[in-house]
Amino acid sequence: MILVYPEIRDNQIKRVSFELSILAYNLGQVLNKATGVVLFGDTLKEHIPSFKNFGINKVFLYENKAQFTSLEIGEILAQLIKKENITIILLPATIKGKEIGPILATNFRKSFFQDITSLEIRDDKFKIIKPIYAGKVISEIILEKEFPLFFSIRPKAIGIKESETLEPEIIEIDKIDIQTKVKIVDFVKKLTTKVDLQEADIIVSGGRGMKSAENFKLLEELASLLNGAVGASRSAVDAGWRDHSDQVGQTGKTVAPTLYIACGISGAIQHLVGMINSKIIVAINKDKEANIFKVCDYGIVGDLFEIIPLLIEEIKKLKE
Ligand SMILES: Cc1cc2nc3c(=O)[nH]c(=O)nc-3n(C[C@H](O)[C@H](O)[C@H](O)COP(=O)(O)OP(=O)(O)OC[C@H]3O[C@@H](n4cnc5c(N)ncnc54)[C@H](O)[C@@H]3O)c2cc1C
Repeated sequence: MILVYPEIRDNQIKRVSFELSILAYNLGQVLNKATGVVLFGDTLKEHIPSFKNFGINKVFLYENKAQFTSLEIGEILAQLIKKENITIILLPATIKGKEIGPILATNFRKSFFQDITSLEIRDDKFKIIKPIYAGKVISEIILEKEFPLFFSIRPKAIGIKESETLEPEIIEIDKIDIQTKVKIVDFVKKLTTKVDLQEADIIVSGGRGMKSAENFKLLEELASLLNGAVGASRSAVDAGWRDHSDQVGQTGKTVAPTLYIACGISGAIQHLVGMINSKIIVAINKDKEANIFKVCDYGIVGDLFEIIPLLIEEIKKLKE
């Protein structure tokens, strides 16, 4: 069986969960294996129908409490993998997936293939694509079928399309007594109405060129008109103008929206690595030599404080 660990935050299934389900289904078709999704938490039964159209055969439920630590999830999954003879485990390359993957792989003394962008079967072997050295090198790795295999897949690396519609079998996982040194004492939810950066179709990002936290209001207005999210370079985050959760790049988030508008961002490699896979990149920068112009599809050389208000005005007119 091929097992998917989905990303569910604030009781919402994140898009990457369906991307993983599609990948599982495609691999299952070639390998002649069933597919499963595992859900942890009290309120998750309601999510089962969401997986119906993605060719999932089984949904495993473990639901005796609301919050689980990664160590607990790792322990429960390890037992499930052994019991159900699961051969491939697909996790999202998110904070949670990146934490659970190594716990699991260590348990089986196996490698964990982190943040991969493609996984396919070639000549009876697995071929994976994995960007390394901050995206400067794209490595191609061939793996033998030595199971179990553990992968985390980068969000938006795989397109979403519905596959086979199935009524999945629901299986309750037997409760186990887990001794871990880590306990969740409290869960403090950050109040936000912001569009999730990694899910957003349009991102308007600001860098040091924005000059102040206050000026980001301009980008918020533009993003809200486009129904997008606001991102930031590390300089803007380090200056305290934006929260770290908005940071795009090597030490921030990897995003791949349809449209990425970089405003007052020079285009350092550590920033580019986080957004280079955007479909269309627009750059606004007053320095015509800025590195960002080497990677953008459309470049505007000029003062962002003149250009962005004009853009906002024009978009408003189009919306009238
Ligand atoms: C280990 C490591 C990890 C890192 N991780 C990240 C990361 O995750 N994300 C990240 O972004 N960076 C990261 N960095 C930092 C990175 O190297 C750059 O320093 C940073 O991206 C620069 O941010 P910036 O483009 O906003 O600022 P700058 O490089 O200072 O560029 C500001 C730009 O704004 C333009 N500008 C100024 N005023 C205006 C105006 N009025 N109108 C139009 N344009 C204007 C300027 O011409 C300039 O090009 C990392 C660095 C290291 C060493």
